[in-house]
Amino acid sequence: MPSRIEISVRSLVEFVLRSGDLGASSSFSPARMQEGIRIHQQLQQIKGRYIEKELPLRLDIKVNDIDFRISGRADGLMLDEGFYIIDEIKSTAKSLSNCEEEEVHLAQAKFYAYIYALDNKLDNIGANVTYYSLHDEDIRTFEHEYEREELETYVTHILHSYSLFCMLLERLKDERDESILTLEFPFDSYRKGQKKMINDVYRAISQKKRLFVKAPTGIGKTISTIYPALKSLIYEDNEKIFYLTSKTINREAASDTLMLLKDAGLSVRAIALTAKDKICPYGSCDLNACDYARGHFDRINSAIYDILETQDIITRDVILSYSESHKVCPFEFALDISLFCDVIIGDYNYAFDPAVYLKRFFAEQMGKYIFLMDEAHNFIDRARDMFSASIEKTAFLELRKLIKSAIKDHTMIPKELSDVLKSIGHVNAGFLKLKPEQAEIEFSQKALPENLVKAIRGFIESSDYYFSEYPNANEEAFYQDLLNLYFEAHAFIRIAELYDERYTMLGYQHDKNLRIKLFCIDPSALVKDALSRCTSLIAFSATLIPASYYISMMGGLEDAVYLMLDSPFNPERLKVMIDSSVSTRYSHRQRSIDRVVQRIHSAVSSKNGNYIAFFPSYEYMNQIYEEFSKTYEDIECIVQERSFTELQREDFLKQFVDQNTHVMVGFAVMGGAFSEGIDLKGDRLSGAIIATVGLPGISYELDLIMEYFNNEGKNGFDYAYRYQGMNKVMQSAGRVIRTSSDKGFILLLDDRFLEASYQNLMPREWLDFERVSSPLEIKNTLEQFWEES
Ligand code: SF4
Repeated sequence: MPSRIEISVRSLVEFVLRSGDLGASSSFSPARMQEGIRIHQQLQQIKGRYIEKELPLRLDIKVNDIDFRISGRADGLMLDEGFYIIDEIKSTAKSLSNCEEEEVHLAQAKFYAYIYALDNKLDNIGANVTYYSLHDEDIRTFEHEYEREELETYVTHILHSYSLFCMLLERLKDERDESILTLEFPFDSYRKGQKKMINDVYRAISQKKRLFVKAPTGIGKTISTIYPALKSLIYEDNEKIFYLTSKTINREAASDTLMLLKDAGLSVRAIALTAKDKICPYGSCDLNACDYARGHFDRINSAIYDILETQDIITRDVILSYSESHKVCPFEFALDISLFCDVIIGDYNYAFDPAVYLKRFFAEQMGKYIFLMDEAHNFIDRARDMFSASIEKTAFLELRKLIKSAIKDHTMIPKELSDVLKSIGHVNAGFLKLKPEQAEIEFSQKALPENLVKAIRGFIESSDYYFSEYPNANEEAFYQDLLNLYFEAHAFIRIAELYDERYTMLGYQHDKNLRIKLFCIDPSALVKDALSRCTSLIAFSATLIPASYYISMMGGLEDAVYLMLDSPFNPERLKVMIDSSVSTRYSHRQRSIDRVVQRIHSAVSSKNGNYIAFFPSYEYMNQIYEEFSKTYEDIECIVQERSFTELQREDFLKQFVDQNTHVMVGFAVMGGAFSEGIDLKGDRLSGAIIATVGLPGISYELDLIMEYFNNEGKNGFDYAYRYQGMNKVMQSAGRVIRTSSDKGFILLLDDRFLEASYQNLMPREWLDFERVSSPLEIKNTLEQFWEES
């Protein structure tokens, strides 16, 4: 027997009744919270009409053997000479002159009217839809009267359509639960530390805690998080798992792990989400030229039904193939499918970014969601980006020029477009108020640039009105630029609404352009808020050190647990050396070139094989590379280039052949494509030389972060520079030992590696390092190391 299905009235009717083109969706929206209060007050003043506002309603009803619980809030209840009327309000930027009632809005009103009539034993009831124009505050109401039986037939009909989906979902859920119940760990044995990780992950999920795991390479982090999280879907009644990462390669690893579990008997629906520009068949979205967008909503529900019935691990290729056969937009299709999946694999931004997070999951009511955050050491910088926004003066001025040149006869510019031009003038004035004297300068101020923000709001409002009054505006030459800037302006305002003492306004004046950035220095409070979208967070990485930093930046101490696991590999197969006779500080780099070159040579001369040397910048790397390849012509060298394409990147990695019969040295920059997320197993990599403590270059923004955290009583240099630097060192060095049969060395070149502030950040398996201070010592140490079996 199917269990109870809970759904909001709005989600239900929007799902069942949707039709037409993508992008042609309603220009009406439910009145948002603040807006809604204002509109309600306005409507009340005009008509004194509501006896109750925001009336909560709930209906328990059985259709096709399924128990439904439908709930929602009616905007208003009116009483007119003993006759009750439900009022549903929708707002729009448009004028209401040609306004028509939309079926989906009336459907909501009918559902609420039915529930109210049933609860209050009314035979008849009114169901109105009221439209409100934000542009000119005009109001238009469509009035209807129904008998209760009539509404009951309607409600049952909608639920019948939805129940077909529910029956499929129930069947899939039953299959899922049964498969998870009997699902065994898919390997014969556990690696060292793996069982503890699995147990701790499960415990954290069941206790609704945040667990931070520093788990070295080789433990099997993906399976050790996904396996217990899957078990919790049935034993802890959790609803969905979000596997969040910053890199495609980690998303592929998560899909591969689910495939492996599928072979072991697992039956779940999982989807890997891909960014719009990476899945759109046209490369970038252009609704007007798109065959998939036309009639998308007429076909989408059958496409969803089909894919859910026939596929389980839904990768990008699977989405593309089904979107082709059903002719629906693959991006929107994937987002819709995710609503019905048990596991959603995607970028961090789907859960955190205020611009793109999955409002379909998190905006209305929270579910029992688990966030598994892979490579979590990358998250804080990403969070800073997600909660920051920039806007440029030239973008507005160029748009103004484009509009004026597109409409040659300026007397023909319609009023709505002329208002857009006026609003651009105000935005320009807002920029000019902030403009510094100097032509080239970075500057900052604590206060939000209120005038500019107000002017950008004006630009959004006038553009909104222009778009709504000119549905054919897409034919204008300036349309795409106007639309792009409109979206940018929205993103900027969204961040302006979050602006507080943790932000700073930055200005970049360059070549007559002024870029204003609302820079989120400390995203911790916003991250904490966003974490309320999940019941438990498992954040894991091989380099999640120090614990206090990550915990404080990701939700705070309360309910946080930290687990540090040792490497599962034999420590004797890794030799760590520190040579403190070299300084790679910026001011010493020129003098250090010969010393670094000699040490790389010593390190790679003891055994044929492949090695990689990491540097803090392209400039320093190229200097060392040139000197090295000139001095040691017999050694094969390859070097990373700034402009590497995906193909060139793959070619670079292909040079790391197994069982190489000569020496090959790759030169790469730290923090680039080769220092993270690559797997050179076995003999493909025998050692890494790291000529830097990885500190990022000094910058205005990083200095502001340092100053902010100093003022907070923390070590600002750690927060802005050192933690980031050592993370890159550990990630780069982490390329050496990938499996239990790997053997290799890490040579750290810089005297600062001996300072406590850096050593405190090293993984435990490095602390048995050997100090070396000359090329000869390096050579001798490694000769002995390679001789040992
Ligand atoms: S298929 Fe591409 S162009 Fe068409 S709606 Fe989707 S993203 Fe836009």
